Amino acid sequence: MGRVYNFSAGPAVLPEEVLKEAAAEMLDYNGTGMSVMEMSHRSKAYETIIKEAEQDLRDLMNIPDNYKVLFLQGGASQQFAMIPMNLMKNKVADYIITGQWAKKAYQEAQIYGKANAVASSADKTFSYIPDCSDLPISEDADYVYICENNTIYGTKFKKLPNTKGKTLVADVSSCFLSEPVDVTKYGVIYGGVQKNVGPAGVVIVIIREDLITEDTLPGTPTMLKYKIHADNESLYNTPPAYGIYICGKVFKWLKKLGGLEAMKVINEKKAAVLYDFLDQSKLFKGTVVKEDRSLMNVPFVTGNEELDAKFVKEAKAAGFENLKGHRTVGGMRASIYNAMPMEGVEKLVEFMKKFEEENTK
Ligand SMILES: *Cc1c(COP(=O)(O)O)cnc(C)c1O
Repeated sequence: MGRVYNFSAGPAVLPEEVLKEAAAEMLDYNGTGMSVMEMSHRSKAYETIIKEAEQDLRDLMNIPDNYKVLFLQGGASQQFAMIPMNLMKNKVADYIITGQWAKKAYQEAQIYGKANAVASSADKTFSYIPDCSDLPISEDADYVYICENNTIYGTKFKKLPNTKGKTLVADVSSCFLSEPVDVTKYGVIYGGVQKNVGPAGVVIVIIREDLITEDTLPGTPTMLKYKIHADNESLYNTPPAYGIYICGKVFKWLKKLGGLEAMKVINEKKAAVLYDFLDQSKLFKGTVVKEDRSLMNVPFVTGNEELDAKFVKEAKAAGFENLKGHRTVGGMRASIYNAMPMEGVEKLVEFMKKFEEENTK
């Protein structure tokens, strides 16, 4: 059986080139006579892997020296707690609720302090990004929190919120490395890597150094302190070593492609193929307001649940996998991350055209 076009929201498609390289190195990594899975995380060979991964990520994102890069475990969801535990000095934080992941982070923060929902797009099933130019930011807020790309609903902040000088914390799980970012605008940028970067189990945290302190909330476990991981360069305990190795390969793949500027151009072209089709289709329509559309996650519906189910089923039979939408939106969702080739999107659109012809009269 050959490879399918995998439109999964996560874990998601990875570059074929990276998978092939990893396969070739599976039994003997670089003359060590062992797999990366089998080697000590304190070995010379592994040290080179993790250091190169960090440097390549720094190069790609142009990360300033006063930011640490941490490779941690527990997925993005672990950060929902780790962020308030480490950053809530005043025990106050403001959250912008643009979907389920932001809401989960907001709910988790309530365990540790006063989390305020300062804006929300729940009124229209999170189909837009609220105006964040003049929010009632709390005077003593330790940070303002956003989920920058909403994986389930298919929206993306095209403009960062006005935090009125407060530290911005962003979950970028599903838009990680999809386009250039100005790291200096954030205090913390983090993402689970299984959407756009690598295998599940790794979360990358890019954090400004002044936010890394001993002064965490009482009872914070050692493993959940940014300082312990920063002081030990992500090797306080055994890191998710194999996952980091794959992330490193994806970073090299991105560099070879021309970096994030080049990736953005490709992603915009790819998304346009799908959105342009949706905008003129008589059967399918996108569920998100145009200005806030994500380049990565594209939800769409026919307006008829039975027809949606038929589409997902026939698409699967034709080699287009994981197109079923999230249960809260219904319909379909095509996640077209960095590693989805243009050809995959073009073929999907061809298939949608054919389905439309067959199912409209
Ligand atoms: C998938 C996802 C998460 C949750 O990631 P886990 O690694 O499963 O904890 C959080 N935020 C966003 C934006 C996501 O897409």
